[in-house]
Amino acid sequence: MNTATLKSSATKSNNLLKPTNLMLAGLVVVLIAPMVAPTYTVTLLNYIGLYALVVLGLVLLTGVGGMTSFGQAAFVGLGAYSTAYLTTTQQLPEWLAFTAGSPWAGLAMGLLLTAAVALFLGAVTLKLSGHYLPLGTIAWGISLYYLFGTMSSMGGHTGVSGLPSLSIFGIELDKGEKIYYLIWAVLAVAILITRNLLNSREGRAIRALKGGQLMAESMGVNTFRSKMVIFLISAIFAAISGWLYAHTQRFVNPTPFGLHMGIDYLFMALIGGVGSVWGALLGAGVLTMLKQWLQDLLPMILGSDGQYETIVFGLLIVVMMQRWPGGLMGLLAKLVPAKYRDHSDLTLNDDAAELPRRELPKAGDLVLEACDVTRKFGGLVANNQMNLQLHAGEILALIGPNGAGKSTMFNQLSSVDTPTEGEVKFMGQSLKGKSSREVAQMGMSRTFQHVKLLPTMTVLENVALGAHMRGSKGVVPAALHLEREEEQRLLKEAKHQLERVGLGDFLYEEAGSLALGQQRILEIARALCADPCVLLLDEPAAGLRFKEKKALADLLTKLRGEGMAILLVEHDMDFVMGLVDRIVVMEFGTKIAEGLPEEIQTNPAVLEAYLGGAE
Ligand code: ADP
Ligand code: MG
Repeated sequence: MNTATLKSSATKSNNLLKPTNLMLAGLVVVLIAPMVAPTYTVTLLNYIGLYALVVLGLVLLTGVGGMTSFGQAAFVGLGAYSTAYLTTTQQLPEWLAFTAGSPWAGLAMGLLLTAAVALFLGAVTLKLSGHYLPLGTIAWGISLYYLFGTMSSMGGHTGVSGLPSLSIFGIELDKGEKIYYLIWAVLAVAILITRNLLNSREGRAIRALKGGQLMAESMGVNTFRSKMVIFLISAIFAAISGWLYAHTQRFVNPTPFGLHMGIDYLFMALIGGVGSVWGALLGAGVLTMLKQWLQDLLPMILGSDGQYETIVFGLLIVVMMQRWPGGLMGLLAKLVPAKYRDHSDLTLNDDAAELPRRELPKAGDLVLEACDVTRKFGGLVANNQMNLQLHAGEILALIGPNGAGKSTMFNQLSSVDTPTEGEVKFMGQSLKGKSSREVAQMGMSRTFQHVKLLPTMTVLENVALGAHMRGSKGVVPAALHLEREEEQRLLKEAKHQLERVGLGDFLYEEAGSLALGQQRILEIARALCADPCVLLLDEPAAGLRFKEKKALADLLTKLRGEGMAILLVEHDMDFVMGLVDRIVVMEFGTKIAEGLPEEIQTNPAVLEAYLGGAE
């Protein structure tokens, strides 16, 4: 065998690991399972499908969005109890009589009720930070559980039985082997739309929730809305699971909707891999099988009855989180060779139409102005009566020793923070009361001194986040992938900006794998993607090599020529002096000098601040 054939046979065997091939194989297994497996196994598979649907919502909410919920089981209960009520109540109130006890009406009612409850609970709890949010979810998880138990018309804690089976296209789904197909079809659709959603403009905003909220707001993302969206979707997945469960069991009682189950769902997500859509399926599968197996095995080993499996699970979770925080899916993902990582949603179409551009102000127009801005942190005055002006087609540098208050000034200018006194005006408008998101929409874009990007997301997607405001397609088109045309335009813009800053070779790399200097440049590309008229750059040249600095200077000069207003904080004086038009010098929160580079270089107060300060 010569090397060429060796190579091709190696590729062939690797091809089997291609995500699409794995999915096809999975699909075949799912399709034939109920035909060959014993009833008992099919019942287990039904449970796995039902659980996976709930866990999928948790992957979105907790894994991707960073919001831990112990209360998903309660939403499953809402779905189950709604349909149980509609389909088993003998004398429905008059306004519901038209439903004639149809399970489909039960589904509609469950979804409406769940959406209403989720919107209310979300509005109340999603603003909570830290551990208050999980505690909040425990609170409503418990409340709803007790509510189910107190409804005497629903049999209290005993529950109600006699729910009808579902029938679809005239086929009665009265057996496990039949409803199996419905459960798994629903799950497949849910996985598909979740994947679609995550690979979209809305999805990037959702993926920025964990660890990037401040940055995302500065890119014009309404982070609270994104949180609500995934909270609602996860609740709806849970409610649909509850509806299916009710008509599979044909019986409901409160037990499966309590806090205990809420915790189990979280375990499944953790075991499977809370960051991955497939982790939901894997986690639900592994935990359900393991539980069955341990329930049989442990009493045999230990020689007595008892819920030993719960103890074993507890230990398992602790070890799991210590050793493999990415869950089983995280482990499996490492087995897939890098070249087969699925970027098919990111294929670029160079024919996509360009996005419309903002009209830049006339060169020399005043665009950004700080008027007596003071910012105090307790007793510390980080900015003291600061005044500065920035014009279109100008590069202004803000310099000063460490701790002078430059980054604080940036935060005031971009509405990330609010001045204690004084105000900032942008395009003639006061920024009082405006959020950083609104300011971004008005045309200001920025980078951060401490790089803020999403390290596991590709370079291309990180930069596309900058173009968020230039798209408009929402969650539903994204879930159905009906926004591909707009998405192509956004991605093309991101690619264009990346090429412009010299990162065109890194589109599909993980952003976190870039060198720090490149990460700073990535932030500039992201800022440019927003099509701003004002660019605020906090220490853009830090960590760059000589050639990269030169390229950056060229880029900024070009942008200035196009009419962009640029404000930068920078320590590298060689870089600053050769590039900028004017300089403002700060020390101890106060402006100590302002002028042309050559004036600043010889200004006694500045020399004193720099040479006197032991840097
Ligand atoms: P520079 O960017 O010029 O190095 P900063 O604006 O980061 O300076 O900080 C100016 C001063 O304000 C420092 O003394 C810093 O410790 C303080 N400071 C900045 N942000 C905060 C904050 N959120 N809370 C309290 N003190 C702060
Ligand atoms: Mg700083």
